Amino acid sequence: MKINGIKLKHNKNTAACETIDLPIPERVFVPMSQRMGKGCEPIVKKGDRVLVGQKIGDSDKIKACPAHSSVSGTVTGITEVLHPSGKVTKAVIIETDGKQEMSPDIKPPVITDKESLCMAVRESGCCGLGGAGFPTHLKLNYNEQRYKVDTLIINAAECEPYITGDHREMLENSDDIITGIRLIMDTLAIENTYIGIEDNKPDAIKLMREKAAEYDNINVCALRASYPQGAEKVLIYNTVGRTVKQWELPSDVGVIVLNVSTVGFIGSYSKTGIPLISRRITVDGDTVSTPCNVKAPLGTPISEILKFADTDLDNTYKILLGGPMMGICIYDADMPTPKTVNSILAFKKPEVKKNELIGSGQTACIRCGRCIKACPMGLMPTYLEKAYDKHDTKKLEKLNVGLCMNCGACSYVCPAKRPLAEKHQLAKALLRR
Ligand code: SF4
Ligand code: SF4
Repeated sequence: MKINGIKLKHNKNTAACETIDLPIPERVFVPMSQRMGKGCEPIVKKGDRVLVGQKIGDSDKIKACPAHSSVSGTVTGITEVLHPSGKVTKAVIIETDGKQEMSPDIKPPVITDKESLCMAVRESGCCGLGGAGFPTHLKLNYNEQRYKVDTLIINAAECEPYITGDHREMLENSDDIITGIRLIMDTLAIENTYIGIEDNKPDAIKLMREKAAEYDNINVCALRASYPQGAEKVLIYNTVGRTVKQWELPSDVGVIVLNVSTVGFIGSYSKTGIPLISRRITVDGDTVSTPCNVKAPLGTPISEILKFADTDLDNTYKILLGGPMMGICIYDADMPTPKTVNSILAFKKPEVKKNELIGSGQTACIRCGRCIKACPMGLMPTYLEKAYDKHDTKKLEKLNVGLCMNCGACSYVCPAKRPLAEKHQLAKALLRR
């Protein structure tokens, strides 16, 4: 049996758009923090000349990974910027010189064992490129005494509407994906890999099957296109049939899950030594005249990327980083591009039909059960909401709120417009406290 989700309009308008390099902006603001894990401290100062790929931020914290300059130019200051996650983080401001001179320190890493793999991945500044931003070296550096990891799952589902960056990664960078997979499998002695791809990307499935054909332990799984197929627990169940219980990690069931663009980056880094300094971003939405996939230097202001895609900023009402289901709405278009942004979506103000409820126009629960049917984890969203409203932590635990992935499927289907997913996120924070 497979876990099913909800049907959404795919709106993959940019699936056929080859990735274009964004022109180098005049100035970048390289954030010192990704979404998860610890941030780092700048190791350059105002007036320093920096080169492409040069390390400009680091930390001695295990959960941190360094930040590198995405451009060549001069540091004009250190500032604080708002990260889309809501954290305030330091950022290094670099005035670019347009030369894109590479740092002489860049060289392919020497990887011989697990320790050198984890060290190299940390030094590359790699974090999960699917959106969560968890430092990748921490996933690879699992405790072998405690966890018996035998399976690598590559998340190439890309189930959120609009976003096509992972799809393009498979079409444009398939060799690096296989190199990254082989490197991790060989170094960590992982027996099998499963690449999970939604079946609305037949060209990517075909190509990855061709590339994986010479390895009998790399399997490509065509998954039904339904939301949230790419949610970690759903993907693990639908590819290898293992169930991750409440508060458990994938390593508890012998699995590591990596996003396909992350593993493609690791493959490319292992050959070139060029750290994470840019990323592919889908730009789309109804105020974007030229929807596209761009490769943008990290730290580029979001507004520059939107302008490149001919966005009507004056009529843009909402800018989302990420997809429409789990993305984060930002209010400052000049926010710099962090490592975790896989798409920028810009929309005009929606037209409100006569008698339609808008904004906080929620009504009482009508006990229709649609949220329960929609939940891929088999939870009872309406009961969870009630338990959270009473701050009943025992009930929340009993109702397995820890399994909620905040996919938003319950809120999406609710005719009463209850803010279910939002409450579940608050409920998990309450339990953690
Ligand atoms: S309860 Fe959580 S996992 Fe279930 S549909 Fe709602 S947000 Fe998704
Ligand atoms: S979908 Fe909305 S109205 Fe229906 S049971 Fe769930 S919370 Fe209540």
